[in-house]
Amino acid sequence: MAKIHELPVLLADQIAAGEVVERPASVVKELVENAVDANSTEINVNVESAGLKVIQVIDNGDGIAADDVQTAFLRHATSKITEQRDLFRVKTLGFRGEALPSINSVSDLTIETSTGEVGTQLQFKGGKLIAQGVAAPRKGTTVTVNQLFYNTPARLKYLKSPGTELSQITDVMNRLAISYPQISFSFTSDGRELLRTAGRGQVEAVLGAIYGQKNLNKLVPIAKENLEIKVQGYTSLPELTRASRKYMSLILNGRYIRNYQLSRAIIDGYGSKLMVGRYPIAVISVTVDPALVDVNVHPTKQEVRISNEQEIMTLISQAIVEAVSPQVRIPQVDPKPKVNQAISRPQPTLERNFGLTNSATPLPQSKMAASSIEPIIITNKAELDLPTIQRFDEQVAKMTASNSLVAKQPVAPKIKPEELELFSEETKTTKFPELRYIGQLHGTYLLTENQGGLYLVDQHAAQERVNYEYYRQAIGEVSDDQQRLMVPIVLDYSTSDFLLISERLELLATLGIYLEEFGQNSFILREHPTWFKAGQEEDTVREMIDWILTDHHISVAAYREKTAIMMSCKRAIKANHHLDDQQAKALLERLPECENPYNCPHGRPVLVEITTTEIEKMFKRIQDSHDSKEF
Ligand code: ADP
Ligand code: MG
Repeated sequence: MAKIHELPVLLADQIAAGEVVERPASVVKELVENAVDANSTEINVNVESAGLKVIQVIDNGDGIAADDVQTAFLRHATSKITEQRDLFRVKTLGFRGEALPSINSVSDLTIETSTGEVGTQLQFKGGKLIAQGVAAPRKGTTVTVNQLFYNTPARLKYLKSPGTELSQITDVMNRLAISYPQISFSFTSDGRELLRTAGRGQVEAVLGAIYGQKNLNKLVPIAKENLEIKVQGYTSLPELTRASRKYMSLILNGRYIRNYQLSRAIIDGYGSKLMVGRYPIAVISVTVDPALVDVNVHPTKQEVRISNEQEIMTLISQAIVEAVSPQVRIPQVDPKPKVNQAISRPQPTLERNFGLTNSATPLPQSKMAASSIEPIIITNKAELDLPTIQRFDEQVAKMTASNSLVAKQPVAPKIKPEELELFSEETKTTKFPELRYIGQLHGTYLLTENQGGLYLVDQHAAQERVNYEYYRQAIGEVSDDQQRLMVPIVLDYSTSDFLLISERLELLATLGIYLEEFGQNSFILREHPTWFKAGQEEDTVREMIDWILTDHHISVAAYREKTAIMMSCKRAIKANHHLDDQQAKALLERLPECENPYNCPHGRPVLVEITTTEIEKMFKRIQDSHDSKEF
């Protein structure tokens, strides 16, 4: 008997749905794209329970003729292409004819549609037609998707939290609104309006609605074209950045796409103006001949193949260079008078002051707070990480290669950062050696000695360790002892970010940071923990919020660790800064008080030891057994 048979239509549709409709946001994307393809000028979207209960898309587009409506629900049924060569010049967002049957197979769906004549209404349940009738002659289409995924529980299980799903829907809506400024969009979730655009064709107005007016002032227009390619859009000044790439939107011929190379081109345009790990907010729209783009490489069509990608990259980079350069030379100064340091933003080209001396925030009473060490400035993480570790590794490599008699060894084994578990008790394995200060080497290492030998202390790593342990403790103890801000900090976010942050307010609260909702998509911070640095309040809280946006599920422990490391870096001594003897001694005195004085929070060694015996061998005052055999 034959074992191979064709799958029932419904099952085939459900399988296709696995690719096309991954989550509520994909349903919204497909339905709104259909509305865009139907020449709508107004599209209203309502969802309930993050789209799981209801997704409704109402448009005023062309509508579907009565005798076509049922066909639209057949797989591979489309009005958008007819023959093979059409595939190479697709101008619509859809063309595969998969969305309606796929969505239909995993929900209870109703469609009302009219071309202006008497309309059609169809009602389906799990893909089966259960009722049909006429609809009002209002030109346009309304698709209502109820109980999404009710018959595919496996799919339901893989969904994220309602806040995350809603945030993804909001992202989809935002991108479509940016891509089609001439269409008026509205988006409502459980009765709350999350987006409304006027549809007057002004991208700027749409960006304002999404990112807030304050951020809009920091977006600059870009435009560049050649005979084949047109690049236009907006990109942020280097002072407005995010910790994630997701704020760089690429629109190719009206289609939102993901493309690593083109995103790279945006970043390249900024050159060294972006800090490591920071990305701009950008919306770049590229127009090329559709024949140069293959959109049929991915079921959701977000990835496309572009034949003149390299040329587009160059044009994007050039456009960015031209747009952001003039502003960078003259840093924007906040026009507001500095009532309080809390509202002053650090200027991108100026060094930031993480100092203690002009601190308005009293640090918690502690032996570490009574620091005699000068405030040192670190502007760039790369600069902070690289020199010490490279020199150390290089030296060790050289040592081993030349088979030197001197085996310079870190006093304690090197610990990888991921092995350092924060807030767990790190027990001292050996007693930390008592060190007498001799002097400083290259402004980077402290030379110290005791009976046992010579010790080189990496002053930057040592300071980081000291700071880290101080902050680790301060951050772990949430007290009511808060510092009130004279001028509260207002933090504006896009709707999708706002939703994500709202879900993790408790995480911030465990560190003593209490954000309150403050109008649409904004939070207000009225006070902060005493371990915040004066003048750094907004920066600190923004950076911490960025981590939630990059890793929504970050644990409390990991969050505290990141915070302690961030704060310790902000105050550590930069290599090449000369410490006076008193400062060096103060640092050496505090080191043994640390739980783990041997490694900096990134896992690099704080000190290396050359034993007296090794030194004596070097000068041939004694010979080791290995040497004597060879002689
Ligand atoms: P595709 O968009 O790839 O053609 P779909 O399954 O999404 O496939 O839609 C099938 C067809 O139904 C479309 O080609 C279009 O003719 C019609 N259609 C779907 N949604 C709408 C709408 N909102 N307005 C007008 N026509 C629509
Ligand atoms: Mg479609």
